[in-house]
Amino acid sequence: MGFPKNLARDKALVAGQKTYDTGERCHAGHLSPRRTDSRRCCECQRIASRKYAKAHKEQNRQRTHVWYHTLAGERKANLIKYRVDYYAANRERLIENSRIYYHEHKECKDEI
Ligand SMILES: [Zn+2]
Repeated sequence: MGFPKNLARDKALVAGQKTYDTGERCHAGHLSPRRTDSRRCCECQRIASRKYAKAHKEQNRQRTHVWYHTLAGERKANLIKYRVDYYAANRERLIENSRIYYHEHKECKDEI
Protein backbone atom coordinates (compact mmCIF):
# COMPACT_ATOMS: atom_id res chain seq x y z
CA MET A 1 0.00 0.00 0.00
CA GLY A 2 2.52 2.64 1.09
CA PHE A 3 2.07 6.36 1.59
CA PRO A 4 0.67 8.82 -0.94
CA LYS A 5 3.23 11.01 -2.71
CA ASN A 6 4.15 14.04 -0.65
CA LEU A 7 6.07 16.76 -2.45
CA ALA A 8 6.84 18.78 0.69
CA ARG A 9 8.38 15.70 2.35
CA ASP A 10 10.37 14.80 -0.77
CA LYS A 11 11.80 18.33 -0.88
CA ALA A 12 12.63 18.16 2.84
CA LEU A 13 14.37 14.80 2.35
CA VAL A 14 16.48 16.18 -0.50
CA ALA A 15 17.31 19.33 1.50
CA GLY A 16 18.17 17.28 4.60
CA GLN A 17 15.54 19.02 6.73
CA LYS A 18 14.26 17.26 9.85
CA THR A 19 10.73 18.63 9.48
CA TYR A 20 8.40 19.88 6.79
CA ASP A 21 5.03 21.63 6.68
CA THR A 22 1.97 20.10 5.11
CA GLY A 23 -0.46 22.90 5.87
CA GLU A 24 -2.94 20.22 6.96
CA ARG A 25 -4.05 19.12 10.40
CA CYS A 26 -2.97 15.76 11.81
CA HIS A 27 -5.49 13.14 13.01
CA ALA A 28 -5.45 14.86 16.44
CA GLY A 29 -6.09 18.30 14.95
CA HIS A 30 -2.62 19.85 15.33
CA LEU A 31 -1.42 22.30 12.72
CA SER A 32 2.20 21.35 13.36
CA PRO A 33 5.17 20.42 11.13
CA ARG A 34 5.78 16.75 10.36
CA ARG A 35 8.98 14.82 11.03
CA THR A 36 10.70 13.98 7.76
CA ASP A 37 11.91 10.56 8.97
CA SER A 38 8.59 9.24 10.30
CA ARG A 39 5.96 11.60 8.76
CA ARG A 40 4.70 12.04 12.32
CA CYS A 41 3.16 15.28 13.61
CA CYS A 42 5.76 17.05 15.82
CA GLU A 43 3.13 18.04 18.40
CA CYS A 44 1.82 14.44 18.66
CA GLN A 45 5.45 13.26 18.97
CA ARG A 46 6.12 15.78 21.76
CA ILE A 47 3.00 14.71 23.67
CA ALA A 48 3.83 11.00 23.27
CA SER A 49 7.44 11.57 24.39
CA ARG A 50 6.34 13.38 27.55
CA LYS A 51 3.75 10.69 28.30
CA TYR A 52 6.39 7.97 27.83
CA ALA A 53 8.95 9.80 29.98
CA LYS A 54 6.38 10.25 32.76
CA ALA A 55 5.34 6.57 32.62
CA HIS A 56 8.97 5.34 32.62
CA LYS A 57 10.48 7.90 34.99
CA GLU A 58 12.14 5.42 37.37
CA GLN A 59 13.37 3.17 34.57
CA ASN A 60 14.96 6.17 32.81
CA ARG A 61 16.50 7.41 36.05
CA GLN A 62 18.14 4.02 36.66
CA ARG A 63 19.33 3.71 33.05
CA THR A 64 20.88 7.18 33.19
CA HIS A 65 22.48 6.35 36.55
CA VAL A 66 24.08 3.17 35.15
CA TRP A 67 25.17 4.98 31.97
CA TYR A 68 26.77 7.82 33.93
CA HIS A 69 28.59 5.56 36.37
CA THR A 70 29.97 3.30 33.64
CA LEU A 71 31.39 6.25 31.72
CA ALA A 72 35.14 6.25 31.94
CA GLY A 73 38.29 8.01 30.81
CA GLU A 74 38.06 10.45 27.96
CA ARG A 75 34.27 10.13 27.53
CA LYS A 76 33.66 11.08 31.17
CA ALA A 77 36.16 13.93 30.97
CA ASN A 78 34.45 15.23 27.80
CA LEU A 79 31.03 15.11 29.46
CA ILE A 80 32.26 17.01 32.50
CA LYS A 81 33.98 19.58 30.29
CA TYR A 82 30.79 19.99 28.23
CA ARG A 83 28.71 20.59 31.37
CA VAL A 84 31.18 23.08 32.83
CA ASP A 85 31.43 24.99 29.52
CA TYR A 86 27.64 24.95 29.05
CA TYR A 87 27.07 26.31 32.54
CA ALA A 88 29.69 29.04 32.04
CA ALA A 89 28.12 30.08 28.73
CA ASN A 90 24.52 30.01 30.04
CA ARG A 91 24.91 30.83 33.74
CA GLU A 92 22.51 33.79 33.95
CA ARG A 93 19.78 32.06 31.92
CA LEU A 94 20.05 28.83 33.97
CA ILE A 95 19.86 30.71 37.27
CA GLU A 96 16.82 32.69 36.03
CA ASN A 97 15.08 29.51 34.79
CA SER A 98 15.77 27.81 38.10
CA ARG A 99 14.34 30.79 40.00
CA ILE A 100 11.18 30.80 37.85
CA TYR A 101 10.77 27.03 38.23
CA TYR A 102 11.15 27.28 42.00
CA HIS A 103 8.48 29.97 42.32
CA GLU A 104 6.09 28.09 40.03
CA HIS A 105 6.53 24.81 41.93
CA LYS A 106 7.25 25.79 45.52
CA GLU A 107 3.74 24.73 46.58
CA CYS A 108 4.36 21.29 44.97
CA LYS A 109 7.40 20.65 47.19
CA ASP A 110 5.49 18.48 49.67
CA GLU A 111 4.13 16.23 46.88
CA ILE A 112 7.59 15.03 45.83
ZN1 LIG B 1 -0.66 15.90 15.98
